[in-house]
Amino acid sequence: MSAAEAQTLRDFSQDASLLALNTATLGHNLDGFGAGWSCERVIDACAERGLGGITFWRREIAPIGTPLAAFEARATEVGKRVRAFGMQVAGLCRTPFVVGRTTPQPLSAMFDDFKASIDMAAALGAATLTIVVGGVEPGHNLRQSLAMVQDRVGQMADYAAARGVGLGLEPLNPVYGGNRSCLTTVRDAVNMIDALSHPAIGLAVDVYHVWWDLSLAEQLQRLKPEQIHGFHLCDWLEDTEDFLLDRGMMGDGVADLKHLRAAVEGAGYRGLCEVEIFSKRSWWTKAPEEVLDTCVARFKEVC
Ligand code: ZN
Repeated sequence: MSAAEAQTLRDFSQDASLLALNTATLGHNLDGFGAGWSCERVIDACAERGLGGITFWRREIAPIGTPLAAFEARATEVGKRVRAFGMQVAGLCRTPFVVGRTTPQPLSAMFDDFKASIDMAAALGAATLTIVVGGVEPGHNLRQSLAMVQDRVGQMADYAAARGVGLGLEPLNPVYGGNRSCLTTVRDAVNMIDALSHPAIGLAVDVYHVWWDLSLAEQLQRLKPEQIHGFHLCDWLEDTEDFLLDRGMMGDGVADLKHLRAAVEGAGYRGLCEVEIFSKRSWWTKAPEEVLDTCVARFKEVC
């Protein structure tokens, strides 16, 4: 990191007020993992440690399949509790895949679920709803798949804007290109955001997905600060065993965290930094208190 980069960085060393927890870090988004804490217990534990916000997964608010009205009632309650502690609901994960083999069918079902996820985010008071776009569409190539993503996300933008919800396009690491996200580079995501040019649509930057990309800063400069909807923290382990569920704690891997943050903050981002660690073999086996304490300590020291 250059001296100029260091100067633009916010100071994280004193407290955790700019740290948000993505609850995936506690294993809550997958069956059979995590300590099974209620949203209330997670909120209280984050508040005790002085965090600035929390990002939830839909299934934690209410089981998948819960009628929307019941989901919204519960989401409203959860959102209120977060804000009562002076924290924000940083985000909600996530929309259905909009392309690829596992996209809900017929397509009208995908759009219905997409709208429901926007309604859920609005009820929570979440600033942004994460979009993981889905893998390459069967029978189509990458370029065609990306064009379909652009069209389908574009169709949801007004609905989101009317409800005060931002849509954060999250390009994923190219290892997921086949089945989870044909959107794999910040460049392609910024191209899409540019083409759509809609106030609801922006970018979510995740260390796990972008740590290798030396053009990150240059690409982010193409966006307005308000088009950056989030910055997600973790680390890329030198010997990753599982591309989905073996993310590292900040400081345990090879990503240059301060350099990456300098790129994001250099583009004007001033929002929360969200720790998001899927870690089946390590962090999900530990007590949530220990995980949270470690997140806070590493946030202050190495992020
Ligand atoms: Zn992420």
